[in-house]
Amino acid sequence: MSTPRLEIDLEKITHNARKLKDLYAQSGIDLMAVTKTVCGDPNVVDALLKSGISMLADSRILNIKKIYHSGIKSQLVLLRSPMVSEAHEVVRYADISFNSEISVIEYLSTIAVSLNKVHRIILMVELGDLREGVLPEDVENTVEKIIQLNGIELIGLGTNLACQAGIAPDDQNMMYLSAISMNIEAKFGIHLKMISGGNSANYRWFKKTKLIGKINNLRLGESIYLGREPLHREAIPGLFTNAFRLVAEVIESKKKPSVPTGTQIQNAQGDCHRYQNSGLMNRALLGIGIQDVLTSGLMPESDFEIVGASSDHMILNTKSRILKIGEEVTFSLNYTALVSAMTSPYVTKIYGRTIELSGVLQNSGSKSSTHTAA
Ligand SMILES: *Cc1c(COP(=O)(O)O)cnc(C)c1O
Repeated sequence: MSTPRLEIDLEKITHNARKLKDLYAQSGIDLMAVTKTVCGDPNVVDALLKSGISMLADSRILNIKKIYHSGIKSQLVLLRSPMVSEAHEVVRYADISFNSEISVIEYLSTIAVSLNKVHRIILMVELGDLREGVLPEDVENTVEKIIQLNGIELIGLGTNLACQAGIAPDDQNMMYLSAISMNIEAKFGIHLKMISGGNSANYRWFKKTKLIGKINNLRLGESIYLGREPLHREAIPGLFTNAFRLVAEVIESKKKPSVPTGTQIQNAQGDCHRYQNSGLMNRALLGIGIQDVLTSGLMPESDFEIVGASSDHMILNTKSRILKIGEEVTFSLNYTALVSAMTSPYVTKIYGRTIELSGVLQNSGSKSSTHTAA
């Protein structure tokens, strides 16, 4: 099989999505499955829908169009506040979009009217992470303007934490969002159907809280795909953390010194590493590099150490083992490595099925074990 390749276990993805759907449903929270992580990959979309989740959310209109044209009938949601330059496509292809600028919403309104459509929006509220959202004190006057617009239906409020500054969702910010939405409903006599409290980072808050409040929606990517919550990167009990694995191939294998010789200036990335002399090292050169995938987010499944990587090569210290030419080395991936591998045209995607579901099911909450299959 060709390398480098990303092996994608669709059954594990369905399993994770279904488990999370059932977990959050216990408290009346509905999920959007986030597809940007996998670039709207049709096989993965299919696996997500098998879980029973009916809303798909993406930041890129390109992915939304791809899913739309594949004939899938689920609701399509644009997560990123629309660019003016894509507003026409947003109204055309997305059922719902998240928004934070009134001028953009007004523009969406004129497009919706011209297309004789009603475009549904969720207004994002800034609650401390300082990425998208209107400030809490501006929600009221923004809503006042939105509800006068033709072709626009305000279906709810949302917030996004953790992604930018790492701010944790907690009772304080979640109750604040609930309070703001109750105030808006009372003030304007409207019903806000959807209060979207966040992303995969809401897991710990959810597990601990007795105050779900009005939160009835979350948008999940990382916890579905990697089985982890993103604040502590802890494995979520009962989920697979190994639905994706990257496979690369050995193109050179030799004993070489652990320290370079000659005058050291800077390498391809502009770095000048210090090397510890540990004598001769078993070094394997792999046919994969930074142009293929974000190598810093890869973790070898065997007890190897990544010495470094440049555009097209990665070097492993294989310790006591001597790898053969053509031998395959497997890695688990963190979120950014997964996103880069999915986006890369140089990484082949292979879709597999779980052979032995029970044998590899991650049941502990352990942080370090990124894989369970030997
Ligand atoms: C990417 C994104 C998500 C999903 O985040 P995960 O941590 O992968 O669950 C949710 N909401 C918004 C607005 C996003 O941009």
